[in-house]
Formats: sequence, C-alpha cells, structure tokens
Amino acid sequence: MSELQYDPLHVGPCVAIAGGVGGARLADGLYRSLAADSLTVIVNTGDDFEHFGLTMCPDLDTVMYTLAGLANPETGWGVVGDTTHALAALRAYGADDWFIVGDRDLATHVRRTALLHSGHTLTQATASLVDALGIRARLLPMTDAPVPTFVHTQAGERLTFQDYFVRRRHQDAVARVEFAQATQATLTHAISSAVDAAETIVFCPSNPFLSIEPILSVPGLRARIAAARARKIGVSPIIGGAAVKGPAADMLTSLGHDCSALGVARLYAGLLDVLVIDEVDAALAPAVSATGLRCVVTPSLMRSIDDRVALARRVLEAAHAPEDD
Ligand code: GDP
Ligand code: CA
Repeated sequence: MSELQYDPLHVGPCVAIAGGVGGARLADGLYRSLAADSLTVIVNTGDDFEHFGLTMCPDLDTVMYTLAGLANPETGWGVVGDTTHALAALRAYGADDWFIVGDRDLATHVRRTALLHSGHTLTQATASLVDALGIRARLLPMTDAPVPTFVHTQAGERLTFQDYFVRRRHQDAVARVEFAQATQATLTHAISSAVDAAETIVFCPSNPFLSIEPILSVPGLRARIAAARARKIGVSPIIGGAAVKGPAADMLTSLGHDCSALGVARLYAGLLDVLVIDEVDAALAPAVSATGLRCVVTPSLMRSIDDRVALARRVLEAAHAPEDD
C-alpha cells in the first residue's frame, strides 16, 4: 500500500460518527488528514455481545485496528496476519466457532473484559487500548451502557445482531431494527464535549440503520448534534444503487426507502448540511439538493489508503466551503 505523507488540514476538532468497516476507512482518512489529536470517532456499540465470557465490541475494534494500521486489508476487520490457534483449541473443547476470533484479537477482548471487571467504563477501557496502540485520536463508544441491536425479520423473528449478521449472513429481509435498551443509556461527558467543540461532524459511509441509527438512538445525542455549531457532512454508503459491502442496500429496500444515494439523503436531510455522493450517482445531485442538503459529487470508493485520504480531504474541504457561510 502506498502511504504518501500529507500536509495536515488545520480545520479544528472533528467528530466522525462510524460503524465498522466503511466507517473505519473514512475515519482513517480523516485521521491521516487532520492535525494530530484533532479527531474523535463516536463508534456504534449496538453490535457488542458476550462471547467466551468476554465483551466483544466489533465496531470499536475495527476502527481501532484500522487507525493503528493493524487491520486485515482483505476483510477490513480483525488483525492482519493474525493466527487462530486459540479458536481451534476452543473448538476442540466443543465451543462455538461461528464468530472468528484471532489470537492477537483475543488479547483485546481479554484486556477489555478485565478492565470492565475492575470497574472501568467502556469509554475508559477503550481509551486504555487506544493509547497502548499509539493512536493519536479518541475513540468513544456511543454510550457506556449496553444497547444491543435486535433485528426483526419479515418472517417475524427477532434476532440478536450477531445472529442476523454473522450466523445468518444478513440474508433475512429486515422489517424493523430495535434499540430497546437505548432508553436507559446516557450520553457520556466525553461525547457531549466532543460534539460541542467540533468544527466538523462527519457521518461516515456506514450502514444508516445498523451503525448510524443506534448511535443516534442514545437519548440526547441527535439533539446535541442538531444544536452543534459544527458543519455537518455525510458520505453515502450506497454507490450506484448498491452497498459496497453488507446489507445497507437490501435494508433501504425492505424498510421502504429509495435504494440509492437519494434514499440516504432523505434519511439525513434536516440533520446534515452536506451529503457526498459518488461520481457514478451524479445524476441524483439535483434530487439530493432538493432534500435541502448541499450535494457534493466525488469518487467515494476507498480501495487504497490514498483513496481514504483523498475522500477525507474532499469531505473536510466541502464541509468548510465558503458557499455554505
Ligand atoms: P460494518 O459495521 O462493518 O458493517 O461497517 P459500516 O456500517 O461502518 O460500513 C458498512 C457500509 O460501508 C456499507 O453500507 C458499505 O456500502 C459502506 N462502504 C464500505 N466501503 C465503502 C467505500 O469505500 N465507500 C463508500 N462510499 N462506502 C463504503
Ligand atoms: Ca458493525
């Protein structure tokens, strides 16, 4: 992978709102584009679950490994070059092996669980891991309380997130997504102050229903973002009517939305100022603008690290473009 050196953009504190792989890629572009210590990433924890007695936080780990330069470039998740000896040994004991846990990855779950058991919050445990990996950005779980996502299928089943996504490979048509425990969650001080201080808030190209919506379901966060003085900009995860990966396109359709960047625009209209859509969707720009969002058209597929940085710079420049003054 080519890793050019870039001059940092001095645009003040930036908050990114992210799920896993798509979110992590743009977060990494922002991390490489901004001055050190300017980035805070608010990460979905709706996918979190207990497994082997350990607290697993798949999206936090994906963002953390990506920013640390440790992510497996093929999958986007897990640690590059990781082995699975522990998983093989667990399998030999009769344990479930549908969720792949690498050996180095396992250390993250063990350490996090130990920190939580000794009384640290998830925000504190995450900060400890992030510091140890040398990441000069803040990663904040959307809240410290568990807010597990449940997926209701059109066949009438209520599935845990990992059942829907990993075990059943997101093949079920989705009727509704539930964040029932969100009502008991509270906004952390770290998130409130980051949102208030931000000059830019970036909604990464993450799944709107499974990654962004759970974050916005934390009481008070949507209103806090709405009230923030930051420029607010999103990137469509839908390119040419399809998701780059995962069920976002299928879910737009099954939940009754337009399966396009325009469908994404309608979800975020009223909350964001600007939406970035891919150049293949240029014909949708007038319709996106008609939702009240300023529309920016640019290549948005992040294959390489240079793509991530190019998109992030475009996002930051577009957010602060003078026509929005
Ligand atoms: P997950 O938790 O791993 O499912 O990750 P996210 O919710 O953060 O990201 C999934 C979304 O990212 C999918 O809807 C993809 O279409 C989108 N995505 C992945 N890679 C890219 C990319 O390179 N460009 C854009 N625009 N979207 C992407
Ligand atoms: Ca996820």
